Amino acid sequence: VAICEQIGDPATSKGPVERKVMRILTPGTVSDAALLKDKSDAYLMAAHTKGSGNSALLGLAWLNMANGEFSVTEVPAREWASWVEQIHPSEIVLSDRHMADAVRPAFECVFTPLPDKFFHADKGEAALLAQLSAKHLANLDAEHLTVGLSAIAALLHYAQHTQGQALRHVQGLTVVRSEHYLTLDAATRRNLEITETLRGQESPTLFSLLDGCATSMGSRLLKRWLHHPLRHAATVLARQTAIATLLNQRTHAVLRPHLAALCDVERISARIALNTVRPKELAALRDSLMQLDAVRAVLPDESGELLDMLVRAVRAPDGLLEFLQRAGLSEPSTFVREGGVIADGFDAQLDEYRGLQTNSGAFLLDLEARERERTGIAGLKVEYNRVHGFYIELTHAQAKDAALPVDYQRRQTLKNAERFITPELKTFEDKALSAQSLALAREKYLFEQLLIALQPFVGDLQKLARVLAQLDVLSNLAERARALNWHQPSLTDEPCIHIQKGRHPVVEQQVTPFIANDCHLSADERLWVITGPNMGGKSTFMRQVALITLLAYVGSFVPAEHVTLGPIDRIFTRIGAADDLAGGRSTFMVEMTEAAQILQHATPNSLVLMDEIGRGTSTFDGLALAMAIAQSLLNTQRCLTLFATHYFELTQLASTALHVKNVHLSAVEERESIVFLHQVQEGPASKSYGLQVAHLAGVPRTVVTAARKHLASLEAQQAAHTQFDLFSAPAAIDEMPEPVVHASHP
Ligand code: ADP
Repeated sequence: VAICEQIGDPATSKGPVERKVMRILTPGTVSDAALLKDKSDAYLMAAHTKGSGNSALLGLAWLNMANGEFSVTEVPAREWASWVEQIHPSEIVLSDRHMADAVRPAFECVFTPLPDKFFHADKGEAALLAQLSAKHLANLDAEHLTVGLSAIAALLHYAQHTQGQALRHVQGLTVVRSEHYLTLDAATRRNLEITETLRGQESPTLFSLLDGCATSMGSRLLKRWLHHPLRHAATVLARQTAIATLLNQRTHAVLRPHLAALCDVERISARIALNTVRPKELAALRDSLMQLDAVRAVLPDESGELLDMLVRAVRAPDGLLEFLQRAGLSEPSTFVREGGVIADGFDAQLDEYRGLQTNSGAFLLDLEARERERTGIAGLKVEYNRVHGFYIELTHAQAKDAALPVDYQRRQTLKNAERFITPELKTFEDKALSAQSLALAREKYLFEQLLIALQPFVGDLQKLARVLAQLDVLSNLAERARALNWHQPSLTDEPCIHIQKGRHPVVEQQVTPFIANDCHLSADERLWVITGPNMGGKSTFMRQVALITLLAYVGSFVPAEHVTLGPIDRIFTRIGAADDLAGGRSTFMVEMTEAAQILQHATPNSLVLMDEIGRGTSTFDGLALAMAIAQSLLNTQRCLTLFATHYFELTQLASTALHVKNVHLSAVEERESIVFLHQVQEGPASKSYGLQVAHLAGVPRTVVTAARKHLASLEAQQAAHTQFDLFSAPAAIDEMPEPVVHASHP
């Protein structure tokens, strides 16, 4: 949507008055309260690539117009989907030539093409240095950037172009390095249902469970944190310590109402910079700044580095509160164009214009008295009508008899009256009639001056917003930890995941009783083969391990009694079968693509969750693949793996290889049916209970009985043959040729 304004003066224009496009609204560049969701960020992203094949490099730059947050990264091009999922932009700017082949995300996101020339790295460098008033890229920790600068070039150009002005609130750049964050691939982010369910709903998700933040700033920051678990242990520990302090001192409860009274400082400061702030918002900002002392007063002192730092930073930028208090924004209206924004007594000229509107009655009475005295005509009247304006009215007789003052000019002659105007009355009339429009214009001018004067405060206000949002998230996490009975995890240097009595935070809210389970993975016991019936709880268990790990690295407490985690670098999941028909990939293709990603990128510090790998093809194919993949994860990637499977053959792995353990989700048979205990127990499952689950699901008794007969005969046949031995060395086969991928394949 393009917003145009009339910029010429209608009084002096010939023909149509000149107009100008003032702003362009696009999904990624809006900053208006009415167009943004309170609890979600709307990012604009620009992307560019360089090179080809495996070494292709992707430059990504993204901007949050509503708060000025600006970031860039350079990553292998194959990580595109994962980054798009992580940043979750509302709009992506791409060069024309990338438009066709860019893989689109599942969520709503607009792709905007720009000509290739806007993606020049040199232009990006110049624009970046100008934007951030920096001399060298090195000052920004950005000297290594190449294709990232191309993305920045397009991003800044497009962002400024849509706003029609400079982006004064963009005052810093975060150069994101993959090694700062625990990597979650796109599939994992979706599977873990962090902020969206697999069906695209907002709840129940990890975020919907955790978000009790008092401010929208807090809710948005919590979302960012959940999508950016950290690898820097010191920062994680600092957050944990802050949560523990707030929890122990019960500060979170008293802090909440104070935070809830605050306005959206983050977005308001951005709108100040963009000149789109409403008077009402400035009044809210002033009132919020007045609350800060109360916020600080309830915070604990001497409470660990992070909290101390935050507490110290809870203060209004120097001089701003006094300035806003003096700015006379008492009961402002929403729009400047409606007037009533600036209070009486702030500006003499505005007061005069307003006085003309409200005090004209008194002036006219006074004038009338003076004119009566001057002319000696007691019946003289000063009056007003809409058509003729102000006038002094005399009867014909009065007008004839008296020697009228020379400055009386005849305005109108009626049947029984003469109307006059004097210079004084004319001046008054001019003023009074234009007073309203003058007052509005004056208010507009004063408000513009106010905005100009506020610009220097933007940077400090943004810092304050970040501080308040952090306090909100930390105290919210403290409150949630108490309410949900979560505990503080410990971190260690050895790659491991030790969880005692872990629970799935979201599923636990839906089923009672939820059975807590342990998980122990380490270099010595890196692969758990999980068996058990469908519906036994395998997926729930695996996801809870991933969620606990993620939460721990967000800095939060976790749904478990005891947790010790090593330095986890990535979480990979291969869970559930999903056809990507829109993307032209069958279930099996999706499954193998995800498996390929894992085999290529997992490290000994990675957590890998494999659920039902190999199910999308024939039994032998699938089994063979599942076995080979499990062996590779165990011996080549050496990652920490939970491997759920229906192939019982895989449970033999524990007896032939080191570092493997069998566990199963227990269930007991009750006549024809089955009761799930949801307990993780040692050893392989004794059977898969497929028929019992079919019975539970309502498959007709006759069909289940027939299946039972088929099963018996299949088992008898298999017993008669020698068992298919997966554990002897594979027969020598020729090296596989490199796969030939047809152009139509992704
Ligand atoms: P599987 O992957 O083995 O088929 P799921 O993990 O999907 O099984 O679990 C099936 C259902 O069992 C879940 O929807 C949940 O209602 C219940 N469930 C799973 N784990 C537990 C648990 N630990 N305690 C209680 N109920 C559970």
